[in-house]
Amino acid sequence: MRESAAHIARTLQAHGYTAYFAGGCVRDLLLGREPKDYDIATDAAPETVQSLFTHTEAVGRAFGVILVKQETFCFEVATFRTDISYSDGRRPDAVQFCGPEEDARRRDFGVNALFYDPSTEQVIDYVNGREDLKNKTIRAVGNPSERFAEDHLRMLRAARFASVLDFTVEEQTANAIRNHAGLLDRISVERVQAEIARIFEEAPKPGAALQLLRNLELLKHIFPELPSLNTEVVLNETADRLNRMRIRTASMGYAVVFFSAADADTAEKAMKRLRCSTEIVNIVCDAVRVQPDMQNFSAKPESEKRLMLSARGFPIQMELFRLSHPQDAQAFQALNLYAAEYTDRPLPAHWVRGGDLLKHGVSRGPAMKILLDKAYRAQLDGCFADKEELLNWLLTSDGGRCGVGTTEKD
Ligand code: ATP
Ligand code: MG
Repeated sequence: MRESAAHIARTLQAHGYTAYFAGGCVRDLLLGREPKDYDIATDAAPETVQSLFTHTEAVGRAFGVILVKQETFCFEVATFRTDISYSDGRRPDAVQFCGPEEDARRRDFGVNALFYDPSTEQVIDYVNGREDLKNKTIRAVGNPSERFAEDHLRMLRAARFASVLDFTVEEQTANAIRNHAGLLDRISVERVQAEIARIFEEAPKPGAALQLLRNLELLKHIFPELPSLNTEVVLNETADRLNRMRIRTASMGYAVVFFSAADADTAEKAMKRLRCSTEIVNIVCDAVRVQPDMQNFSAKPESEKRLMLSARGFPIQMELFRLSHPQDAQAFQALNLYAAEYTDRPLPAHWVRGGDLLKHGVSRGPAMKILLDKAYRAQLDGCFADKEELLNWLLTSDGGRCGVGTTEKD
């Protein structure tokens, strides 16, 4: 990917233009991290970029961004630009093409404002970004208050970059964030949610990230539903669990936060407000709700165990249990053993299906669902030799023979 990006830069240079790697990829290269993508910045106009390469697409023509396809990769080639007036607290109203220095100065943080010339292997640094990298510091470019006032998302980006890179937020930058923290309420919840998700996924210590968000006074604007995170005890316990997570996904992080600081209903409300996907909301809420059942797992009937294990979110449920019940090592061990035995063993097919019940005069609806559930649990519990016996019992008995299979959950 780097070679393809360098090829694009060299092509532009061969036609007399300036072209650099820009932003995040330069930061990552200098840190010895694998860049996720390579962005190229140039003084060539967007039309020129389009004319020089075969496979291009104008993604942000107004902002001077052209997507160039090279080999199997896609690169954003952007004309050096400066942003003009932010009226929505998020996106510039317009841009103006300019030279590299001004382009560097519109960028958010010193570490994100570096250029690199792949031909000469030189770093071009207009804002002391290299110094920030050396000091492991996230520092706003220019006046921090102005930068956060024009684009409020930068406050969260500062916290994310500090957490993911294990850097500290420089003091004036941090103070400006504290002063502007309330503006976070004005940016779209999707953007907030995406930043939080990336912190859970990428930060080496997501718990330290939570404490940083609290320290920057952003946390109460992210999770207003969780006032208990304002207490040291809950905050520190939550952070400790986050730091020990062995599953690094957004769902896992949310599960830990909501279980530690609230309950499943609050989780559902908060995550819906944050517009998390239904899938994530369900996985997280189930994980929170099921914790008491995890504690009593060994005592559960076989059917209940198998059904719990087959839940999509079971690994998260189990990890949440491990993190939040350190005193229950034995219960976790039992869970683990059971899980190891049954993982990869699919649940058996249902002996009794809706059609069987229809034939016997049961009509579709909630009552049928309850019967089918009862039948499947009895089957899993091994109460009957075959379908015939099971069906017979289901349609005639009061459930006496196989009481354990009749738990009607929820
Ligand atoms: P990563 O992709 O790993 O999150 P990145 O630094 O590449 O990190 P992007 O969001 O891809 O971040 O943005 C690319 C570059 O654009 C940044 O490095 C930064 O220079 C600039 N940039 C992005 N968002 C902003 C912003 N909100 N304000 C100012 N500059 C920004
Ligand atoms: Mg990027």
